[in-house]
Amino acid sequence: MLSILYRGPLASCDYDCGYCPFAKRRDAPEQLRADRAALERFTAWVAAQDAEISVLFTPWGEGLVRSWYREAMVRLSWLGNVRRVAIQTNLSCRTGWLAEASDRAALWVTYHPTQVPYERFLPKVRSLPVRHSVGIVGAPAHLADARRLRADLPPETYLWVNAQEGRVYSDAEAAEWTAIDPLFGHSRHAHRSLGLPCRTGDSVISVDGDGTVRRCHFVPEVLGNLYDGSYRPALRPRACPLPVCDCHIGYVHLEPLGLYDVFAGGVLERVPAAWNAAGDQVSRSGR
Ligand code: SF4
Ligand code: SF4
Repeated sequence: MLSILYRGPLASCDYDCGYCPFAKRRDAPEQLRADRAALERFTAWVAAQDAEISVLFTPWGEGLVRSWYREAMVRLSWLGNVRRVAIQTNLSCRTGWLAEASDRAALWVTYHPTQVPYERFLPKVRSLPVRHSVGIVGAPAHLADARRLRADLPPETYLWVNAQEGRVYSDAEAAEWTAIDPLFGHSRHAHRSLGLPCRTGDSVISVDGDGTVRRCHFVPEVLGNLYDGSYRPALRPRACPLPVCDCHIGYVHLEPLGLYDVFAGGVLERVPAAWNAAGDQVSRSGR
């Protein structure tokens, strides 16, 4: 199975978070057309493959306010060779379209307290008809919101906390966040990764709008192109060339961390195995 992190040219977002790690911009109509064309090309490529594929869309901006991302999620979710299709989203979009997706669609939702009223966000996320995780940036100003969200979400919904970029957490602070997300310890510190085996560049790749393939979003070396197949001979087990890996979408694939076991069944959408099991029980009981 090949897991693909896809990031096209889209860079605009309807939110304006102060801690946004991305260089947000307005996308001109021609940039939006290029993003749409790139995504449709990628979707057609996935549909033409025999191999089993999982996809995580990791746009610089917000994808689901654009019809083509919603359409790609639905279309890919029904393909026989697609095991999972997920997207990182702020969930500002309407959600009725998700009813058309298969149970292989999933959402990686982030709650941004300064951008959306809690009273609007909570019912929306609680009524999602597809698999999802929900998360928040572990900024001190978010602590009360995070606690409230944990209390109000069903126990089978995993709430993750991302360590804030550049913040050093005291043990007491880390304990507060760990009470909300028992896996916060994985995010608290960057992981030393140099020379360690990482699945990216072997069973996981990063693809941009032109089809340029890299092992992950963080290592600039190009492995080839998706559309001419030139990336294929480059796939093999590899060690990480960078000193540290501090983003979940990267280090979840770093083999010594063992996170494929922790997130078994939900690696791309960040749903841990224990929560997967709880969600399955709820589905079976028809709740
Ligand atoms: S929702 Fe995400 S992409 Fe948009 S401004 Fe906030 S952090 Fe940046
Ligand atoms: S450990 Fe992180 S930075 Fe290193 S290769 Fe893997 S995903 Fe990329």
